[in-house]
Amino acid sequence: MTAGLLTLVGTPIGNLGDLSPRAIEALGAADALACEDTRRTGRLLAHIGVRVPVLIVMNDHTEAEVIDRIIGRLEAGERVAVVSDAGMPGISDPGERLVAAVSARGLRIEVVPGPSAAVTALVGSGLPAGRFVFEGFLPRKGSGRSERLRELATETRTVLLYEAPHRLERTLADLSVSCGADRQVVFARELTKLHEEFWRGSLAEAIERCGEVEPRGEYVLVLAGAAAAEPADDAQLLRALQEARASGASTRDAVAAVAERFGAPHRRVYSLATGKH
Ligand code: SAM
Repeated sequence: MTAGLLTLVGTPIGNLGDLSPRAIEALGAADALACEDTRRTGRLLAHIGVRVPVLIVMNDHTEAEVIDRIIGRLEAGERVAVVSDAGMPGISDPGERLVAAVSARGLRIEVVPGPSAAVTALVGSGLPAGRFVFEGFLPRKGSGRSERLRELATETRTVLLYEAPHRLERTLADLSVSCGADRQVVFARELTKLHEEFWRGSLAEAIERCGEVEPRGEYVLVLAGAAAAEPADDAQLLRALQEARASGASTRDAVAAVAERFGAPHRRVYSLATGKH
């Protein structure tokens, strides 16, 4: 029996012209295809005139339960391809758990690379690309979110974030509290599509822009890294506290964010914020 093969296939993030000849070949050779949404992937297959005998729905909810079925097919010698709705599987999309399970069984895996919104955004942002971190979507709320925002305050590498348009303004406001309103950011919007746009400015200007032009479409936020920390004077700390309060942070949150960002003692920042010595 020939050994099975799992092939992770990158698909376009908006422009069908970005589907590679090798991706088409891999999809055409697949005995089964795992995808997030059969209708969406069906349209892609129709566009390239390929029919795959079996489609398996694999999304965040079903990934764990379809892993065994896919491993069974691979062990029977089949070729199983994996796509997500857009871009690279496994990047803020299902795929990671499947690859871990398949590699743990010693089965063959290959990747047909394609576009990914994060790297596409980074390259067009003009921000340093030598060292960067991918954060994907921030947790929506709770301590998970505040912990990540705190980490970003002192992150010196360029940061890549995914965000839905209706949550953009909230996330910019939170970033402004933790990182300071002056931090530079790039909106990489509708990449590879008709209305592709790179907008550049400070977090304060970005929030203002959201008020003027309602965010629509798909966005990657490319956030400049923090400059090397210098000891802050009182005037700087007070200005940062005022900015954080203006972005909607409570005094408590503003003090915590400013102390973290400047590496200043919490007590000193609290005294400045409240005027109590
Ligand atoms: N797997 C995909 C990849 O490799 O980029 C990412 C999937 S994730 C569920 C979807 C998010 O990616 C969107 O909310 C948006 O932040 C970003 N995204 C996807 N396509 C995009 C595009 N054409 N322009 C800008 N951002 C995009």
